[in-house]
Formats: sequence, structure tokens, C-alpha cells
Amino acid sequence: MNLLIMGLPGAGKGTQAAKIVEEFGIIHISTGDMFRSAIANQTKMGILAKSYMDKGELVPDEVTNGIVKERLAQADVSEKGFLLDGYPRTIEQANALDDILTDLNMVLDGVINIDVDPSLLLERLSGRIIHKETGETFHKVFNPPAAGYDENDYYQREDDKPETVKRRLDINIEQGAPIIEHYRQKDLVYDIAGNNEIDLVFKDIVEVVSSL
Ligand code: ADP
Ligand code: ADP
Repeated sequence: MNLLIMGLPGAGKGTQAAKIVEEFGIIHISTGDMFRSAIANQTKMGILAKSYMDKGELVPDEVTNGIVKERLAQADVSEKGFLLDGYPRTIEQANALDDILTDLNMVLDGVINIDVDPSLLLERLSGRIIHKETGETFHKVFNPPAAGYDENDYYQREDDKPETVKRRLDINIEQGAPIIEHYRQKDLVYDIAGNNEIDLVFKDIVEVVSSL
């Protein structure tokens, strides 16, 4: 099964993606995670990506399309299927993905669109914390790790600062609408109410994905 998960920054894509891939045994491909790992490894691509990410801007399409194509071509993905998270983010990327999938003889089964009231997103992003060791995402208030957890074991993302968040939201709102439209025309979009709590959102997603 090949899926996309879409939604504004903070909508809950990463949180739900982790649960979906565990439930359905497919591969999680997050362009944001791939860039952050390239930055941590100080590769040439990571250094380039960082210069955009720090400003809340999108990494150029040719770089992003390249890493996605490379990852989708790997054997585990064709064997198990994939969940793409954070890609496509521009209509050019959506067109590139259509071509990549055609080249690889793959089809998209559905697009999960997590719909969240934008007024909730700043609070979600400013409280987002990530476990240093596992990369798992939590929230200081909405989804805290175990009681009495050590704050030093977690970090906050550079680009979750309020100034950068505003820029990211503006860019994503503007670029996101035509992408959803692109997939609505193909009748692939499943809208999920993302304002609910994490487990309820997941329940709705499982229902949709199980019916595909
Ligand atoms: P979010 O939690 O905001 O949805 P991501 O981890 O998906 O964040 O992305 C973080 C940053 O990585 C983006 O602001 C952007 O700079 C870069 N990035 C991730 N995916 C893409 C993409 N498909 N195209 C361009 N840039 C991307
Ligand atoms: P995205 O990948 O779309 O940027 P995340 O999955 O990282 O979003 O979620 C952003 C923040 O909001 C995280 O701190 C996460 O724990 C929290 N979060 C995710 N889903 C919900 C939800 N349904 N209700 C409240 N908080 C949530």
C-alpha cells in the first residue's frame, strides 16, 4: 500500500505516520527527517538544506525530488509499500512524484489529509519536543513522555521558534492548496479531522486505510 500524509506543520503528520507504519507494516519516508539526518551527518546536501530550513523556507525542488526518487527506488519500499510524509509540498513536486511513480511502476492508493484549525498549530509546534535517542515526537502538554521525564533527553526543533513557524505556515498554506486539489481530481483524498486527540485521529485514519 502506497500512501501520502498531508497537513500543515503541526497537524500531526509525523505523530500519525509513526502509528500508521507500525499498524500496516509500510515504510515511513519523511523528507524533513531525511534533511535533519543529512544535517546531523554534515553532508553537502545537509548543509544546503539547513540554509533553507533555518529560515522556514522550502528546500529547492530538484534537491527534494532527487532524495525522494532515490529512496522510493530502494527494494524495501517496493516490497512493503510507503507512507510519504512532508512531500509533495509544491505542485512541481506533485508532478515530479507522478513521474517518479510511473517510472517505478508504482501507484498511489490514497492521500490522508489531516485538517487542523490553523489557530491550534502555533501551540502544537512551540510545545513539540523530540527524544534525542529515538527521534520520537512528543508534546510538553498534549502528549508528554512518561511522568517525571528528564528534559535533557529531549530537544526542540530550531525551526519551531515562533518567528520561523509563521513563515512556514504562510508558505505551506499557499503551496498546499493546489496539491490537495491535484489529488482530489484523482479522487484519492481522505479528509481526517485533526483537531481531536491523537488516538481518535488515528482511529479515523485506520478506518480509512483499512478500507483501501
Ligand atoms: P513540519 O513538521 O513543519 O511539517 P518537516 O519536518 O516536514 O516539518 O519539514 C521541515 C523543513 O524541512 C521544512 O520547513 C522545509 O524547510 C524542509 N522540507 C521538508 N520537506 C520538504 C519538501 N517536500 N520540500 C521542500 N522542503 C522540505
Ligand atoms: P507534523 O509532523 O504535522 O508537523 P507532529 O506530528 O510533529 O506534526 O505534531 C506536532 C506537535 O503536536 C507534536 O508535539 C505532537 O506531539 C503534537 N500533536 C500531534 N497530534 C496531536 C493531536 N491530535 N492533539 C494534540 N497534539 C498533537
